[in-house]
Amino acid sequence: MKIKDIFERERLVYSFEVFPPKPDYPIESIYKTIEELSKLDPDYISVTYGAAGSSANNRTAEIASLIKNKHGVESLAHLTCIDSSKEEVRQILKDLTDRNVNNILALRGDIVEGMEIVDGVNFSNSQEIIRFAKENSNMGVAAACYPEGHIESEDKSFDIEVLKLKEEAGADYFISQLFLDNSYFYDLLDKAEQKGVTLPIQAGIMPVINKRQIERIVGLCGATVPKKFIKIINKYEHNKEALRDAGIAYALEQIVDLISSGVRGIHLYTMNSPYIAKKITSSIDSILTSVREEDLKRLG
Ligand code: FAD
Repeated sequence: MKIKDIFERERLVYSFEVFPPKPDYPIESIYKTIEELSKLDPDYISVTYGAAGSSANNRTAEIASLIKNKHGVESLAHLTCIDSSKEEVRQILKDLTDRNVNNILALRGDIVEGMEIVDGVNFSNSQEIIRFAKENSNMGVAAACYPEGHIESEDKSFDIEVLKLKEEAGADYFISQLFLDNSYFYDLLDKAEQKGVTLPIQAGIMPVINKRQIERIVGLCGATVPKKFIKIINKYEHNKEALRDAGIAYALEQIVDLISSGVRGIHLYTMNSPYIAKKITSSIDSILTSVREEDLKRLG
């Protein structure tokens, strides 16, 4: 099934993200995590993708296939293409199709120093990949968006134009970069609507449970860390359990506010932790049930 069909059926799409184990860990080390996440009944689970050429990428396809074919949960394979040739991407799309994986998150990926990008051979932005996937496969295609702007963008309003370009290229829906202040996401929704973007936008939420994680995130994607959040980190940085609980409570507050505001989806960056996903999912269980009941009434 294509995830866009889930968006047509459901007012709120609730999904998880996992990453493959590092190459020196056995792939089996994620099996239990997948099993436990699947039991929480998400609409789909996405699997991240490493830099092209890394052996970890076969694992993306393998894990996405396991989610779909063993656990019966729809899966979404991330695919970054900046340093892959069109032929390589064609092969990856075929491999995913052969494995019964029907959805990709089409990403340009990060530009790393020394990468050789050849015009006409490689892809230079996400729209090219989205178009290529639509023309060369039967995949459902998601795309990324950035509530605080993409880290390379000097003009943040240009990122909104890029959303429109991704929609025109054939994307089905968007998943957002993580954010810790919901006002950035609401601002993105308003600006996207003004630009004529009509696709659903899922909010990416990451429960931050340790100090190193937050430092890494800010370095990688430039997310703003609100004062309220810094207070939590400072207060509990030496108490692992307290910080984890505070991080989960913070993410829950974000999620409840987002759902109450009528967002089309929550994409939970689980950090491969069934504990976090369970805590969050069980805390919003009655909220998810009430949204599902409304869906059933609406669909008659
Ligand atoms: P693009 O949409 O191509 O945008 C990249 C930059 O180019 C932006 O600054 C944009 O404004 C600019 N741009 C785009 N189109 C044009 C145009 N037509 N003309 C001029 N400028 C343009 N990375 C991984 O390596 N693996 C993952 O699994 C992964 N998963 C992710 C999941 C989500 C939900 C998100 C939000 C990001 C993820 N990333 C992942 C990170 C992503 O690869 C980087 O943010 C990357 O730098 C941009 O990818 P993109 O597809 O958004 O690029």
